[in-house]
Amino acid sequence: MQVIKEMIPVVERLKREGYIRNEKVIQALLKVPREEFLPEELKEYAYIDTPLSIGYGQTISAIHMVGMMCEALDLKEGQKVLEVGTGSGYHAAVVAEIVGKDGVVVTIERIPELAERAKKVLKRLGYDNVIVVCGDGTLGYPPLAPYDRIYITAAGPKVPKPLIDQLKDGGKIVAPVGRKIQELILLEKRECKVFEKRLCEVAFVPLIGEEGWRE
Ligand code: SAM
Repeated sequence: MQVIKEMIPVVERLKREGYIRNEKVIQALLKVPREEFLPEELKEYAYIDTPLSIGYGQTISAIHMVGMMCEALDLKEGQKVLEVGTGSGYHAAVVAEIVGKDGVVVTIERIPELAERAKKVLKRLGYDNVIVVCGDGTLGYPPLAPYDRIYITAAGPKVPKPLIDQLKDGGKIVAPVGRKIQELILLEKRECKVFEKRLCEVAFVPLIGEEGWRE
């Protein structure tokens, strides 16, 4: 496996600070070239653990947040995962590495230009197991439901009900919820009941859509 040299110190720190433990998550972060998902002028900052602008008022998530969300989702090879908020496509690529060739990542982005750009980068890097869809992710993506795992990369007023409906029994959702004060929530569906756990405070861009905030 080719390892991104510049990512090694970031991953070592995230391990030390307890953000990541799972070997699959560690290997995926070491493998995906974050600079490929950034605009030309920001590529030199790719291995700084912070959100960065990707245009259209949106950001690529910080590296620790991508790692933490992957850990919380407890991703396994072969799973079908729905991402709401493709952004740059970086987070989808990390998840695609973890679920592997037998798994699939369906990712929805509401801004057509971002969806198109992410689709091109993911294709160029060979992520054939990622399907990019342009639309309102608060409604999920029924044609490929149900999903083993769902995560949202923008904060809404609540976890949208269509996403809970499109989650398999035994499945998990990780999502930021709130406006000024936001919390990362882990939902688990077991025997059609939903269990909720609050993970930590976070700061995400708003989730805009029918089951999110209004524009
Ligand atoms: N994980 C992404 C990455 O690695 O680049 C970062 C995503 S960015 C923080 C959140 C994205 O969610 C933005 O691109 C925004 O346009 C998108 N978004 C917001 N509301 C949405 C919705 N209802 N459906 C789909 N995408 C949405």
